[in-house]
Amino acid sequence: KPDDLKGDVRFENVHFAYKEGEPVLNGVDLHVKPGQICAIVGHTGSGKSTMVNLVNRFYDVQEGSIRIDGVDIRSYDQQELRSRMAAVMQDPQIFSGTVEENIRFGDPDADSHLIRDVVQQLGIHRLIEAFPRGYDTELGQNGGSISLGQRQLIAFARALVRNPSILILDEASSYLDSETEQMVQKALVPLMEGRTSFVIAHRLSTIRNADIILVLNQGELAEQGTHVEL
Ligand code: ATP
Ligand code: MG
Repeated sequence: KPDDLKGDVRFENVHFAYKEGEPVLNGVDLHVKPGQICAIVGHTGSGKSTMVNLVNRFYDVQEGSIRIDGVDIRSYDQQELRSRMAAVMQDPQIFSGTVEENIRFGDPDADSHLIRDVVQQLGIHRLIEAFPRGYDTELGQNGGSISLGQRQLIAFARALVRNPSILILDEASSYLDSETEQMVQKALVPLMEGRTSFVIAHRLSTIRNADIILVLNQGELAEQGTHVEL
């Protein structure tokens, strides 16, 4: 039952192309154990986001397999599997509604109490209180009224409220000012604790904390190891 998902993720000879004849991943093998942090680095266009989108099952692989807790990802009920995962992508989506509603999107059953707990845990409570009407601040569609860094913090809270077994973070550090960057940095630590995490990493500190570091190059793993090894 996905409720008990441990978060063991295995790629076996994974091939993937968005369009026939234009391979993006060329036989990727990988084993991430429950609770480990897997950092993925590589040039733009090397297939980093594609890899995590496959874990999220936005797409199915064309050859090879991805197994979660030993079970082929295609055998799970997609809805249930997704309810045990959370992703913060490069361009986090904000919906029209309040800050609180935007966080609750991660789990419709989360009450105000839980939402405040999660925000405290992330260390961004004060930042949200600083919005004009705090948790009740209305955010326009696409979050036009707040910065990308603030959008990302809300997306982190939305991810954590779900208490996912598998966490996916597609970092977009280049948009953040140094103050927000530091805030995000701190927020990342409690977010990853006790979960299997995939982090597309630009920040050195994330890479330092990783159990596995993948270097993707033209759809292949150029290197795989720990910070010490690479
Ligand atoms: P970046 O660092 O810029 O985020 P990335 O490593 O995440 O890059 P991907 O987004 O995985 O790279 O893209 C890998 C390749 O797949 C690129 O050539 C890209 O153009 C292509 N690609 C990505 N998404 C799609 C899509 N939805 N449809 C078709 N091609 C795509
Ligand atoms: Mg990407």
